[in-house]
Amino acid sequence: MAQADKYSIRDLKKDFPNDDICLEYIFSNLHAKTCSCGGRYNRVKGRLKFQCSKCRFQIAPLVGTIFEKTSTPLTLWFHALFIFSNAKSGVSSKEMERQLGVTYKCAWRILKLIRESLKQDGLPLKGDVEMDEGFFGGKGDAGKNNEMLSVVMNKKTKVIGAVERKGRMRAKAVKDVSAKTIATFLDHNIYPIDTRLLTDKSNRYNLASWGYNRQSVNHGNKEYVRGDVHVNNVESFWSHLKRSIKGTHKAISKKHFQSYLDAFVWHRNNRYNDRERFGTLLGALLQS
Ligand SMILES: [Zn+2]
Repeated sequence: MAQADKYSIRDLKKDFPNDDICLEYIFSNLHAKTCSCGGRYNRVKGRLKFQCSKCRFQIAPLVGTIFEKTSTPLTLWFHALFIFSNAKSGVSSKEMERQLGVTYKCAWRILKLIRESLKQDGLPLKGDVEMDEGFFGGKGDAGKNNEMLSVVMNKKTKVIGAVERKGRMRAKAVKDVSAKTIATFLDHNIYPIDTRLLTDKSNRYNLASWGYNRQSVNHGNKEYVRGDVHVNNVESFWSHLKRSIKGTHKAISKKHFQSYLDAFVWHRNNRYNDRERFGTLLGALLQS
């Protein structure tokens, strides 16, 4: 596992001490410093614009980005991104409000915009891919003989997750975990060719995974690992997600679950390098 490259608040303040430098960074993230005419872009004094030294063409880098109409200083935005980027167990609006010294409404809005920029891409997974279902939230007791099980399960948010060994993760909130839903997930997210699908022995997969090379462990018989067949990587994602929701967010409504899920998947897929992750997050926000 690669050593995480740390990125501290001191690094952030050194890299981005003021709004001018933040704006320079945003410009270079979106545009080339050299114009097609051969001139160089320089900042227009006192304005949020850059101008070519030869043909005088102007570019306003914030136009069309989520920073365009914001009254929040760029340094504060960068600080918010820093907090979000480093919070691997998520960050609540309340926490953001405290750390940034902004109103709750402002903190909530910033977090919402960040999460919305982290939608998962549609590039299918391949290779050794683990797949499993997770169940979140919903109160109630299934009863002694599980007579209330279906009622309790109905209240829970259901998620299907898949992860490449040493690779990318994908997770989607779904309305149910029927064979049909699983088949649709597979179809959209996992290449059948050159893939070994690793699951538990649930019957739902028998029909759904037709056409896939599938190997499974029998959780019902307390078999969790057989050789290199297991779903431990997806399961550790589920338990991290459960702990994080409990510790940070308390509860997440079904309606918003997918955007939180996107953020957690993004964190997992970018977990090794703190500095790179900050840059990737800013890039995602600028593109959204
Ligand atoms: Zn030019």
